[in-house]
Amino acid sequence: AIPLVVAISTAVSAQNGLLIRNRTAFEESRKISALLFDKTGTLTKGDFGVTRIETVDKNFTTEEVLRLASALEQSSEHPIAVGIIKKVKENKVVIPNLEKFKAITGKGVEAIVEGKEVKVVSPGYLRENNISIPEDAYSDAAETVVFIVIDNKLVGFIALADEIRPESAEAIRIFKKNNIKVLMATGDNEITAKAVSDKLGLDGYFAEVLPHQKVEIIKDLQAKGEFVAMTGDGVNDAPALAQANVGIAVGSGTDVAAETADIILVNSNPQDIANLILFGKATYNKMI
Ligand code: ADP
Ligand code: MG
Repeated sequence: AIPLVVAISTAVSAQNGLLIRNRTAFEESRKISALLFDKTGTLTKGDFGVTRIETVDKNFTTEEVLRLASALEQSSEHPIAVGIIKKVKENKVVIPNLEKFKAITGKGVEAIVEGKEVKVVSPGYLRENNISIPEDAYSDAAETVVFIVIDNKLVGFIALADEIRPESAEAIRIFKKNNIKVLMATGDNEITAKAVSDKLGLDGYFAEVLPHQKVEIIKDLQAKGEFVAMTGDGVNDAPALAQANVGIAVGSGTDVAAETADIILVNSNPQDIANLILFGKATYNKMI
């Protein structure tokens, strides 16, 4: 039976935009009872556009907020960074040089720009550092907001919008029909996570999740008897991809994520996973 499975899995995966690294994962895909998706780039397009730039400190203009943020975002590959750099190019901003660039895992980026300590961070980072979040930051639930902190003072924020992939709703309908729980884990804020979850009718979501917490979420699900598949795109996701029963690296991703995963999803489209599961079930039923 093995050569048959190999032949089928190779053909099916190629058709469905999946590269199968672990043959057992294909055979076991029919057992999946819970799917833990990442949000950005998988359930959503991951194509952010800047919608608002606001200042909080009167000593800074919106142009200055964007200019200082651009120095850091030019060194980041996060979809938020890509969205900000797109805006910077449109506005023909001259991007300043930076020193000592560092990622703050799951929370943002920091560097020294023109002698100032500049950070572009999540709302979670502000809360942890007792910096209050401006009231108008979350006027639109569909927006992801990042905050610009200079020398430990909040000076402004940039709001960005992403869109849900049109294929996500249909994929989720298929999972539900097959009694598969659909969950989402994202580093993004609670309000945006809830808006996406409600729109897609997910069975649950986890917001402001740090990379190491994904492993715990999967362990908890497994302890409840779930057979868990998870999607992930970054180096940070490697431990969780390894913990999942079926780990799926999405998109161009990083080599580390791809090396840990059982399956590589070429187009980051959840519909491809739906096809895999449907085909896996149909094939298994024919074989027995
Ligand atoms: P996700 O992949 O779900 O977006 P991450 O761990 O990559 O989760 O990021 C979590 C949060 O950290 C983002 O929503 C954002 O608030 C902040 N963040 C991460 N990278 C950047 C960046 N380059 N610029 C600004 N904010 C960032
Ligand atoms: Mg990520």
